[in-house]
Amino acid sequence: MTISDTAAPTDAALDPREAELLARVPDGLFIGGVWEAGSAAPIEVKDPATGRVIKRIANAQPEDGIRALDAAAAAADAWAATPPRTRAEILRRAFDLLQERRDDFALLMTLEMGKPLAEANGEVTYGGEFLRWFSEEAVRIGGRYGRNPEGTGSMIVSQRPVGPCYLITPWNFPLAMATRKIAPALAAGCTVVVKPAELTPLTTLLFAQLLADAGVPAGVVNIVPTHNAGALSEPIIADPRLRKLSFTGSTPVGRRLLAQAGQNVLRTSMELGGNAPFIVFEDADIEKAVEGAMLAKFRNIGQACTAANRFLVHESVAEEFAARVTERVNALSLGRGTDDGVTIGPLIDDRAVASMSVLIGDAVDRGARILTGGKAPERDGCFFEPTVLIGVQPGSEILREEIFGPVLAISTFATEDEAVAGANETEYGLVGYVFTNDLARGQRMIDRIDTGMMGLNTGLVSNAAAPFGGVKQSGLGREGGAEGIHEYLSTKYTLIPAS
Ligand code: NAD
Repeated sequence: MTISDTAAPTDAALDPREAELLARVPDGLFIGGVWEAGSAAPIEVKDPATGRVIKRIANAQPEDGIRALDAAAAAADAWAATPPRTRAEILRRAFDLLQERRDDFALLMTLEMGKPLAEANGEVTYGGEFLRWFSEEAVRIGGRYGRNPEGTGSMIVSQRPVGPCYLITPWNFPLAMATRKIAPALAAGCTVVVKPAELTPLTTLLFAQLLADAGVPAGVVNIVPTHNAGALSEPIIADPRLRKLSFTGSTPVGRRLLAQAGQNVLRTSMELGGNAPFIVFEDADIEKAVEGAMLAKFRNIGQACTAANRFLVHESVAEEFAARVTERVNALSLGRGTDDGVTIGPLIDDRAVASMSVLIGDAVDRGARILTGGKAPERDGCFFEPTVLIGVQPGSEILREEIFGPVLAISTFATEDEAVAGANETEYGLVGYVFTNDLARGQRMIDRIDTGMMGLNTGLVSNAAAPFGGVKQSGLGREGGAEGIHEYLSTKYTLIPAS
């Protein structure tokens, strides 16, 4: 693999285009349509490719969170009463503005999160689709009308916005995880308080500016980045004015938030961790499987909840699959995401780099072999070499933990039942990938694998028009698709007796 070291040294002047963009990113809290300076020590946002602080922004305190909820609560009735067509047109304008400002958003995500620029561009497309999709859904919120079975009255079933929502997003997809929540909430007529991840808050702040430019009224969207997510969130979640919590992040934090939400009987959506099986049968098109593996494993530097975590390959094709995938991995180019041709950026922080070494060390101690990579390269930044392991043994940590990095771990199986048992041997259930040319077998796998989503002969399933979400410890609820808006609506039934 190629390892470039063209990242700016930490004391060098910023590239002028980067400096100009960063200067335009708001650095305040966005509450009630006003940008506010924070009162506490600022959050320092770093470029993970260089370790350099690229911007200091306001750090919301618990009282700021409550003021943001005050603003969302004050704006709630007017926004709910805004005609769906108006809400739709505002969201559509936001979609159009995002296309116009695409280069800014892509570069900003690369700077604060590290993904290669081409992938950041892909996220602008994907994230933008939620604005377009939910602008279309806003005017299709239906209901039902009918006579009751006894014939004594009419039954009306209608949908109303659930009320003020608290949205918590992770760092790995700074734009798409925000639009996937904000767009359906606004389409449904809900106002929101958003808490972006402290590692990557800049994209959300720039997006707040875009929403205001698109015509979102003051108070409908409020943004409160903070260094202390727990202290800020607890009083918001406990506040009786809040009606919904939507969280994307790790399963342990999701469990804690569910317990807090239970005290206030909140509606919740939980998009949590994954541990996706990627199964290659002996009858699969191996080239297609390798292609799928590269996408499912190395997209976003392996830092996706949908990332393939466990490669289960039939024993008769495992060596061939491993050899071909290793060849592809050796052709990857590691470096700062802004550099031409880079396909693997840095991990998000030093902890993530250390975690790769621990997982690989444990797998090797239990009998796995490293085919390529296996260590952090000698250069600045939070980089880790894309790695392929073969012969990963049952009981290895890497099969249990969400890897969240560029490490492809291969185990083998002999029978279909063994593949199913291996795939389901996890507390998670977000997505599974199956490669086979036998349609009947593919359908059996779809039925038998316990996940919320499946890819058959593909390594990428996400689509704004599809319901995204998991089963088991991967979460509750769905984002996107026709289902996505219902997470922000509550059903009301009315009986009108025949007179
Ligand atoms: P994380 O759980 O550490 O943090 C997620 C968000 O929760 C951040 O904004 C963080 O500040 C906040 N948070 C942390 N502790 C909190 C607390 N006590 N109260 C309130 N908020 C708190 O996760 P992460 O490292 O940012 O993201 C990676 C995780 O997200 C992975 O597990 C990944 O699988 C998951 N993820 C899931 C999906 C999905 O749709 N299922 C999508 C992307 C990421």
